[in-house]
Parts: sequence; structure tokens; C-alpha cells
Amino acid sequence: MDKVICKIDGEAFDTDKELHKHLRKHKMRMAEYYQTYYPRYDLHTKDIIKFKNKEQYLNTDFNSRTNLRMWLKSQSEEIRKEYCQNVLTDRKEKKGLIYSPTQVELRSIMSPPIQYYNEIFGWDGYYKLCSELGFKNKYSNFQEIVSGAEYDKPEYKIFIDTREQKPLRFSRGVEVKTLKFGDYAFSNKTVSCNCYIERKSLSDLIGTLSGGYERFIREIERAEENDAYLVILVEAKFYDAMYFNYKVKSYNGQKVFKKVKATPEFIFHRVRNLIQKHPRVQFLFANGRKESARVIEKIFTCGCAWKKIDLQLAYDQGEL
Ligand SMILES: [Zn+2]
Repeated sequence: MDKVICKIDGEAFDTDKELHKHLRKHKMRMAEYYQTYYPRYDLHTKDIIKFKNKEQYLNTDFNSRTNLRMWLKSQSEEIRKEYCQNVLTDRKEKKGLIYSPTQVELRSIMSPPIQYYNEIFGWDGYYKLCSELGFKNKYSNFQEIVSGAEYDKPEYKIFIDTREQKPLRFSRGVEVKTLKFGDYAFSNKTVSCNCYIERKSLSDLIGTLSGGYERFIREIERAEENDAYLVILVEAKFYDAMYFNYKVKSYNGQKVFKKVKATPEFIFHRVRNLIQKHPRVQFLFANGRKESARVIEKIFTCGCAWKKIDLQLAYDQGEL
């Protein structure tokens, strides 16, 4: 394996970790080291790229999504297309991705969202491009998601797991019973295509993806073994989840993040891994509890349309 060389005195190390430890000898912080010896600048503002960790630093061209957006706006169509395509090929190569990145994946890295790709590559442009680049498409474009009467009979109920601490309120009948996984299911599994929904507050999500990670993976595997689909529905806006470290005291009036060590980068890294590794799992961030209840009923009664679409994209476009 290649040695890692200290740029200050030429000393060689086996791992980055050893080099990072060695930097103390030079009384230099990691951020300062990389910014001095591997300077990278925001393409739009020309400011030095902010250092969060080595991988993020070396793979980021912008300090904010706003800068990315502004830069793209100032470029020719050709360059815009080339840049967007490169974001995808780069990640495919570096991460060994199989499936076209979902909206949640794109929105949590420095990339334009799927709508932007469709804007510059034409309707359905994103999935077409992904397929040309060798990704497998789990989802396809859609026009409208409608609840059909045959899927929405009044006798169909929503099952709520007995362990669900804060059940949502629905407009239809409910029944509390023990579910093998998830917190919500539909009484007619054929109509819902065996969809289970796991509801999470923002602090639940952070807890699950840090300390509760192993347990969570076992739950996902249990669902997979039972041919079920699992939608992880987070009762928070995507943007708020991405910046939860700036909202340390409360969210929606609830006390949350008292001692959160995990960073949003760490949490979303795991979210992206789960999405790529488990094609039967989707993450969806909805704006609050009322919205979450509405979206659950819509998912259960749309005649399985939810299975073929990227739920976060549909939600972002106001179609879910
Ligand atoms: Zn050194």
C-alpha cells in the first residue's frame, strides 16, 4: 500500500490516521494542514473549501448548495450538463454505487436535486442519464399519484404497533396490534404491497443511526426476510435534518439533542449507505406530524404507486 507522506517534513506513514496524529508534532490542525498543502477553492466564491473531514474536503467544490446553484446559473448549458453528469460518475466510481442516487442521497451531498437534472436534461432526463451511466433505476418518473376507490375502501384500517409511543391521528379507522417491524401498516397488505412505515422524530432518527444502528439493521433485515417494504418516515423537514446541529435545543417544541455527538455528515452517510444497500427501504422527510399522517394514508391507498417512485422527490414536488 502507498505510504502517506507528511508534506511538512516528508515523514512517511501507513495510514491517514497516523499522519493526522503526527500533525500534533507540527502543532497543526488537520484543517490547516489540508487547506495549506492541498488548497481547494469554492468554484463560485473562490473562498477556501471549509474542512469537515478529509473525504468531504477533497471531494467538495462548493461551500454551500447556494454557491453550487449560483455557479451553475452562471455557466453555459454545456458546462452545466457536464458538471452534473460528473457529480454522478464521480460518486459511482468512488462509492461503487449500483442504484441511481435517490433524492435523499442527492440532497445530502453537494449535488443539485433530481428536479434540476430533469430541468437541464429534459423530462425523465435524470433516470435516462443514470441508466446511460450504468446505474440501475429503482424508480421512474411519474405524473400523478391518485388514490383509487378500490384501494381506499372504508373498511381498510391502519394498524399501529403496540410499541408506538406517540401514534399519529388518521382520518380512517385504526387498530393497535403488534407489528413485526415498522410502526404502521395497512390492514389490506395486497392493496398496500406489503408496505410498512417506521415513524421517527428527528431525534429518533439521530439515535437510531448512531447508537441504535445495529438494531435498526436487524429490523430492516427482518422486513426483507418477510418480503416487506419499509418506509422510514421522518417527521421533520429534510433541510432541518441536514442542519440538526444548528438546532441543538429544540425542534417543534420538543426538547431533543441534548448530547448529540454525531454530526449530520455522519448520520446522512449512514442514510445513504442504507438506501444503496437495501432497495426495499426508502427514507422520506415530511414536514411535521400532521403531514406524516396524511402521507401515510396516501401511500397506503395509492394502489402501490409508491413502490415505483422516489417518495422524497414526489414529496418535494408537491405530488405526494
Ligand atoms: Zn511531519
